Formats: sequence, C-alpha cells, structure tokens
Amino acid sequence: MRILVVEDEPTLCAQLVQAISGAGHTVESASDGAEAHYLGEVEDFDAVVLDLGLPVLDGLSVLRRWRTAERNMPVLILTARGAWQEKVEGIDAGADDYLAKPFHMEELLARLRALLRRLGEHASAQWQCGPIWLDTRQARVLVDSQPLPLTSHEFKLLSLLMQRKGEVLSRTELAEHIYPYDSDRDSNTIEVFVGRLRKKLPPGSIETVRGLGYRLVDVSAPT
Ligand code: CA
Repeated sequence: MRILVVEDEPTLCAQLVQAISGAGHTVESASDGAEAHYLGEVEDFDAVVLDLGLPVLDGLSVLRRWRTAERNMPVLILTARGAWQEKVEGIDAGADDYLAKPFHMEELLARLRALLRRLGEHASAQWQCGPIWLDTRQARVLVDSQPLPLTSHEFKLLSLLMQRKGEVLSRTELAEHIYPYDSDRDSNTIEVFVGRLRKKLPPGSIETVRGLGYRLVDVSAPT
C-alpha cells in the first residue's frame, strides 16, 4: 500500500517513515501543509497519516480541501495531547481516526492496519436506522443530521449494529468484531461500550435482549 506521512517535526517524521516502511508499505512524506495538500491531490494514496499542527497550511485545512475535492482516502490525524476539540474538528473535517501525541508506534501501526482493513471491507457503505445515519468510509455518524462524535470502539460497535439492524447480536459476536486480532478479548467490556454508546444515541435505540445480547431498533418507526 502507498502511505503519505505528513509531519513537520523531522525526528518524528523519520520515525513514522521508518516504522510504516518496515510494515511493508511504500511511504512518501511531506513536512508542510501546502506540500501535503499538493501530493494528496495529484497522487493516489491508500491512507494518510496527517499531523494537524503544520507550517504554511494547517492539517485541518488540508483535510477539508481534500474532502471538498472528493479525495476520500482514509486519513489518520495526529492531534495534540488532550485537545479533544481537535479530534472533534478533525472528524467533522472527514478524518477516519485520530491518535493523540505522544503515541506508541505500535498503536499507530495497529490503527493504520484497521483503517486499511476497513477500506477493503466496505468500499463506501452507508447505513441508516431511523434518525441515525452512518458512513463507514468517512467514519461519520449523524443523528437528526447533527454529527455525533464517537470513539473508534463505539463507531465499530455501531457499524455492526447498523449493518445488522433488527437482529440480536451477542456480546461475543460484538467483541469479535471490535477486537478481531486480540485473543484476550473480554465480552464484559462490550457492556461498557454499549452503555456509553447508548447514552449518545436517541433513547431506546439499543435494546437489551435478556440473555441473548443487543439489538438496534428504529426509534422513529411506529410501534
Ligand atoms: Ca506539528
């Protein structure tokens, strides 16, 4: 796969290029927003790792311009530690995932693998369930046309529930979807994620089916 790395801090940029190349990808890099924007516009990449704090043109503007021009490659943004507004703005601008600095290179590689996998699984799937609308390609959820920021776990959980709306999904099934390569997955943590997701969605969206699991229901449908 061809990956673009955009990072103005030379040491971190070199580490990213080395780690991603080491994972078997072809990597190009850019150190300012204008160069990044140009490369992303004229060349095809399978994914982009984009720092938000960049000289010349900031990362959010780069991302918005790409999306406006329908450059829809998956983009993982690098945000400043604790800057949650940046994450929300990034997702609104069309980022597929985010990672706060400082991060472990292993985690970045895992997120990148997940993005590339998601790209292969659903080219541009969009699902709707009553007031909830989900676009897998843009990693975007809208409720009553308003963007709903979700964590990547909550997003994956909602994707599966939406893909199979009306069906009862067991905790084990949901855990397998969220942690596909983790042998230590614990279906109890699914309860926590379901609880958090439920608080963000319109009341009644996620039904608990005692002893069996969870089901997504269309709350706008007449009962
Ligand atoms: Ca920077």
